[in-house]
Parts: sequence; C-alpha cells; structure tokens
Amino acid sequence: MRGENGAQTLLIDADDTLWENNIYFERAIAKFISFLDHREHSPEAVRLVLNDVERDSIVKHGYGLHSFAHSLVETFEKLSVDPITPELHERIHSFAHQIADHPIEVLPGVPETLQYLGERHHLIMMTKGNPAEQSGKVERSGLKEYFAAVEIVAEKDESTYRSAIAKYALLADTTWMVGNSPKSDINPALAAGLHAVFVPHDNTWILEHEDLANAPPNQRLLVVERFTDLKSHF
Ligand SMILES: [Mg+2]
Repeated sequence: MRGENGAQTLLIDADDTLWENNIYFERAIAKFISFLDHREHSPEAVRLVLNDVERDSIVKHGYGLHSFAHSLVETFEKLSVDPITPELHERIHSFAHQIADHPIEVLPGVPETLQYLGERHHLIMMTKGNPAEQSGKVERSGLKEYFAAVEIVAEKDESTYRSAIAKYALLADTTWMVGNSPKSDINPALAAGLHAVFVPHDNTWILEHEDLANAPPNQRLLVVERFTDLKSHF
C-alpha cells in the first residue's frame, strides 16, 4: 500500500476488469436462443443446458471462441428435434465468430489508472484464454504499454499463480492479484499466498461465479467498487 509498504507488484486480469468481454458472449447467446426458438424449453432452460455444456467444453477445448462455438452446436443438438445440417452448423458457428475482432471497449478510467499505478508499482497483465485471441485483444486495447509483462495462461488456478510467482521471482508479501472473477482471480491467488483485490463487474460470466474466500492470516483481500478506486489504495 502506498506509503505503507512501498512498491508492490500488481497482477491484473484483463477480460471484464480492463475491458468489456462477457457482454459479447451474452449477445451471441441471446441471438442463438432466439434462433433456436425452442417450443418446449424456455430461454432460461436453454441457458442452463448451455452452461452445463460449456463446463465440459472448457475441460476438453479450453477457453475461447472455438470452444464457445462447439458449445452452441452441442446445445443445439441436445435440444433440437431437427438434425443438424451443414447450413445450421455454419449459422450457429457464425453467432460465436461474430465476437472475433470486435473493437475493444476499455472500461471507464482504466488507462489513467494504469498510468498512475505504473509509475508507482510493477504491473503484469494476467489473462486466461486462447493465446491468439487474448494477444489480439491486448494489442487492440492499446493498454500493453502500461505493463512490464503480459502473461496469457490456459487456466487460472493455484498452480498458475505459484508458477507466476516463481517465473517473476515475486514476493508474495508485496504481490496482489486484481480482477473480477472470484473463481479465477481472487480465490486461487489467495490460496497461492498472494493478496487480492476484487473489482466486481455486473456482467461477470456465470461460470466465474464463486463465493469469495476469506483472506488467510497475513494476507489481504480488498473489495473495491470500480477499477479507478485502485488509485486510493496503491
Ligand atoms: Mg476477468
């Protein structure tokens, strides 16, 4: 903390912490559900099936658009009485692939806050997903210059954070993970011995929801309202 412990290392999540991400998936899912126009299942019921399919797809295919497109097709196959045709397959894939190359909507006040933090602390972006998709977003965001390094990882669990600690020779006592996901950013970082800052986002993906863990003794968990609030803590 500023004036208290001096320079810190901030590992900072990207999707839905620095820029909008999940809203594009939500829009694609809404289009998919209205396309499906299911006579027997409500949109909510379709969504529950999709959530289950996505949990499995992540294990098999990882995160990203390929995995998401696969999940939509599989959900269609589970729910539709009609067999899937090449045309339908193509159409369903298009809902997912429309997300690619969308312009990056950086969240309010993020560049100024990164500028401020970068002058005082060591910043490393830490984002999970498909390497090509994530690095494309990093480039298009214009935010890369604020970071000493960008880490793109396949999953964010306790061992991922322990690897980052080793790779960058981080001191757990002066390192914080900042992000919007209890499941990927906060709880595994706390488990790996880091401090954490939870920055909630109204549109966090349901598969990232989890109760926030309590910070173990000698570790801290800050909860702020928005990213710009980091300026009053660091
Ligand atoms: Mg995120």
